[in-house]
Amino acid sequence: MKARWWQGSLLYLLILVALLALAFSFFPINKGPKEVDFYTFVDNTKSGQVDSIQQDGNSIIGLKEEKPVIKAAFVGSTKELMDSLKDSGVKLGEGAIKFEVKTGGFDWGSIMLSFLPLVLFGALLFFLFRSARGANTQAFNFGKSRARLSSGDKPTVTFADVAGIDESKGELQEVVEFLKNPQKFLALGARIPRGLLLIGPPGCGKTLVAKATAGEAGVPFFSISGSEFVEMFVGVGASRVRDLFDQAKRSAPCIVFVDEIDAVGRHRGAGLGGGHDEREQTLNQILVEMDGFDSNTNVIVLAATNRPDILDPALLRPGRFDRHIVIDQPDINGRKAILAVHSKGKPLSKESDMEVIARQTPGFSGADLANLINEAAILAARRNRKDISQKELEDSIDRVIAGPEKKGRVITKRERELIAYHETGHALAAKMLPNADPVHKISIVARGMMGGWTRFLPTEERHLETYERFKDMMVVCLAGRAAEQVIFSELTTGAQNDLEKVTLIARRMITEFGMSKKLGPRTFGKREELVFLGKEIHEQQNYSDKFAEEIDEEVEQLVKDAFSKALEIMQANQARLKLIADFLIEKETIDEFAFEELLNKPLPEPNLETATAS
Ligand code: ADP
Ligand code: ZN
Repeated sequence: MKARWWQGSLLYLLILVALLALAFSFFPINKGPKEVDFYTFVDNTKSGQVDSIQQDGNSIIGLKEEKPVIKAAFVGSTKELMDSLKDSGVKLGEGAIKFEVKTGGFDWGSIMLSFLPLVLFGALLFFLFRSARGANTQAFNFGKSRARLSSGDKPTVTFADVAGIDESKGELQEVVEFLKNPQKFLALGARIPRGLLLIGPPGCGKTLVAKATAGEAGVPFFSISGSEFVEMFVGVGASRVRDLFDQAKRSAPCIVFVDEIDAVGRHRGAGLGGGHDEREQTLNQILVEMDGFDSNTNVIVLAATNRPDILDPALLRPGRFDRHIVIDQPDINGRKAILAVHSKGKPLSKESDMEVIARQTPGFSGADLANLINEAAILAARRNRKDISQKELEDSIDRVIAGPEKKGRVITKRERELIAYHETGHALAAKMLPNADPVHKISIVARGMMGGWTRFLPTEERHLETYERFKDMMVVCLAGRAAEQVIFSELTTGAQNDLEKVTLIARRMITEFGMSKKLGPRTFGKREELVFLGKEIHEQQNYSDKFAEEIDEEVEQLVKDAFSKALEIMQANQARLKLIADFLIEKETIDEFAFEELLNKPLPEPNLETATAS
């Protein structure tokens, strides 16, 4: 990019010159010889101001000592001119006035002069066009690896910036050692890993940890994303890969990072969309490049995916991506550590407690947590605070989960009541059941798609669920609908999400966890799951229709039991339900302390207690 500055100034110079030239051609300062009429010309010649005369096209020029001094128009042949001059008494010839004709004599000088502005403008346009094109050179540059734009520099992030995945960092530490000191390994005849596959859900730090590995080793980092290749022209993907690896080999030792490798590395002929030539060629090129490394090529390829199950086995063979490192969703301690990393350098108020935030954010990825801290800082600024308090942090959880608060949405009084009873139902049931998680917050402030929500605070990170817990979870899920039914004797759509959840729990209890007494400890159906996204794509029925029927019956029984239990709890606690729901309608949110208070508050006289609903 060194050429840039002079190209820039050349451009300005050109503009200046062109404008000047234009100005000169309109307002010539130096007109050359004085223009006179023919008679004046003759007079001046006779009075000795001129010692030679030139005929130049349709004009005649009088020169004194070779310099043009006057000029006049004359239309006619040379003979006519000479005759006219002689008739006027001008003596031509040796010793008198010299006469010559500029034959075919283009006056290059003056022609150039008159064309100069045009030439300059041409040059100017050319430059303008060139620089405009330069602005989006990529458009003209398909084959060049886009990776070069963003990479090849040494990252400044280190392992200290990556939190909560210590095991993975440990494994990558080896890569760092190797990049720093390959001889140590080679001397012992160790085979250096070529490719490592980072496996984990989005936003959990795969890119970050890859970058940090380069940062720790102090080597350049090249990156490219598999999804970039998918929409490209045939042949371009492969040439890009070649380009990237050429660059990398020249800058070795270094790290090449291939994000979303599943986009090109999908099992050939499998999955959705079928075979894609471009993808296959790109994948082949990656394999060719990796196979082409010799034992002292000091380039390590890290690739990231959240779909290891669909990768082409060719990618996973020895010498390719034969090492796998799982980068999982952070657990509670991981979340705490990530929050600490991201709140470093931000003014947190003293009473803020990351432990509490970490407990409330199961399922959050590193990216979500980074986002949470950022949202909290923005909120604090909007509230004109000097520091970020626990309140901002908690409010940000909601924003990250459900998108920003919907201020504009209008809900009717009746809707509000319904939502309040529904949410209170969830909370109350959770309180009454021994195996449910404690309630953390209940709210009827609409966020995203949800009219209201109840958040629970798991006391510990769980790895095993029990039959009893599942049963209580189903009751809590259905308690929203039960509360609506007990108070309003009405069915609403508000429980749709809950019903889906309950059905899923019941089904999994029977078909996956062998929790049915009747069907016994076995599984039903073979699932192809998006392992790290937790979404099913498709279930293969590997059992008879007789079992299918029985499964349905068992699921139905579980759900029915849970609903009766929920109804029972709501009926038995109607007065409490009403008390809490009324409070919720007024205050919109209830935190765990207020909830506890409301649970212990004496109930009003029974006769005041009539079902609401106006
Ligand atoms: P992935 O590549 O797995 O999709 P990224 O590495 O791009 O995820 O993560 C996105 C952002 O989330 C990172 O830039 C970082 O700010 C934050 N982040 C994710 N995981 C972590 C972690 N373990 N520690 C610290 N920050 C993290
Ligand atoms: Zn609900």
